[in-house]
Amino acid sequence: MREYFASGVTHSVEFRKQQLRLLRDAILQHEQAINEALYQDLHKSPEEVWVAETGLVVAEINLALKKLDQWVQPQTVRTNLLNLPSSSRIMAEPLGVVLIIAPWNYPFQLLFNPLVGAIAAGNCVVLKPSEFAPATAAVMKTIVKSVFESSYVFFTEGDGATVVPSLMDSFRFDHVFYTGSTAVGRIIYRMAADKLTPVTLELGGKSPCVVEEDASIEVAAKRIALAKWNNAGQICVAPDYILVHASVRDRFIAALQKVMEQFFSADPSQCDHYGRIINSRQFDRLINYLSMGTVLTGGTYNRDTRYIAPTLLTDVKLDSSLMQEEIFGPLLPILSYSSFEEACSIIARNPDPLAFYVYTESKEKEKQWLQRIPAGGACVNNSIFHLLNHRLPFGGRGTSGVGAYHGKYSFDTFSHKKSVLRTPTWPDPSLKYPPFRGKLGLLKKLVG
Ligand code: NAD
Repeated sequence: MREYFASGVTHSVEFRKQQLRLLRDAILQHEQAINEALYQDLHKSPEEVWVAETGLVVAEINLALKKLDQWVQPQTVRTNLLNLPSSSRIMAEPLGVVLIIAPWNYPFQLLFNPLVGAIAAGNCVVLKPSEFAPATAAVMKTIVKSVFESSYVFFTEGDGATVVPSLMDSFRFDHVFYTGSTAVGRIIYRMAADKLTPVTLELGGKSPCVVEEDASIEVAAKRIALAKWNNAGQICVAPDYILVHASVRDRFIAALQKVMEQFFSADPSQCDHYGRIINSRQFDRLINYLSMGTVLTGGTYNRDTRYIAPTLLTDVKLDSSLMQEEIFGPLLPILSYSSFEEACSIIARNPDPLAFYVYTESKEKEKQWLQRIPAGGACVNNSIFHLLNHRLPFGGRGTSGVGAYHGKYSFDTFSHKKSVLRTPTWPDPSLKYPPFRGKLGLLKKLVG
């Protein structure tokens, strides 16, 4: 792969576009197989697969095809006085051979979306899908093998704890793009540091969702239910817990219960678009949380089918693991608060969430919340949909991640910004050459 990259073939913009077109065609040809695989791994409906997996990647490819000529253009910038009459520009340069590691919850999108950015930016790519979504991994492998030479895009599989360290130990990648848990993110960061490899870490965390006293309660209930129980809560930016103002708590809970039944029927286990937990390990972890609060709605489950009902919990203790770990499942604790400061102090127990959501009709409150809560991203009167706008960089901060991507930000993530100064050979004033005695006054005017 190193030699393939060094040959310069990936530098050609036409080559990159051609590879993106081939990838898009192969994805569309395999659409049915992708749908079936994601149903097998996570019980996803074809509609959900299109919006959050296949369609999202196709849209990313279409955007890159449309914008690539523009993205690769060197950016001309002004030149400082001392360097005149030079000209200055910033060139986007491919990084080289990059590694992309994906988790199991959106196994297709989280591997192929960064791949689009990496190809657009002119890199060679090693892909490592999650071993916990094997049906989807098998289709992705077929696609990659049918489209790319293995010295250009290489597909590797297996237990991440073995495969990734051996890859990163034996080879110096030019960038590692990792999506997954904060715990494994730390391990990746450490391994990358050893070789001074730059990283993007797309991690998780507890994303709080505030419902203010002046919120439009019915709209909040609908949008929160859609965001929380999509993929049975196994989404990095799902509202992890609700902080609802005490004055509207009962009204909000009643509205949420009503919407839950509308969306998933009285028996969500029979609902064709309600997801399943990925595996028994995750299932057992989630069931354990059920004893850490009072079940208000849901709480039923079936270990054989890895089904857990959409569940509301109250009376949860802040020092329980339910309120200290990312839930990443269909359990939604509801806490109430009476003052802004009280809610802020609860959120501060798990700082730097990947996302922060606030439902309010007041611009003043919106401003107050957005200024006060540091987070990777945020929505006002909405949840999770910020990630579907490619014009917004998607990423975390602190423990929820390092770096960002989507759209042009993906191209930037997988490019090096090379600063170039071009100086004509004439004129060539003697001022900048020694001896310097007597030139201090002029230099002070030019630099400073
Ligand atoms: P996972 O267990 O599938 O792991 C992710 C990847 O890391 C896999 O490819 C796996 O093989 C690899 N891996 C596992 N152990 C490793 C090790 N010791 N060394 C190197 N690689 C290893 O997925 P997960 O971590 O359970 O994913 C869930 C987490 O991912 C949640 O915390 C969620 O919030 C986060 N997530 C974040 C985003 C985001 O965009 N920020 C998106 C989805 C998921």
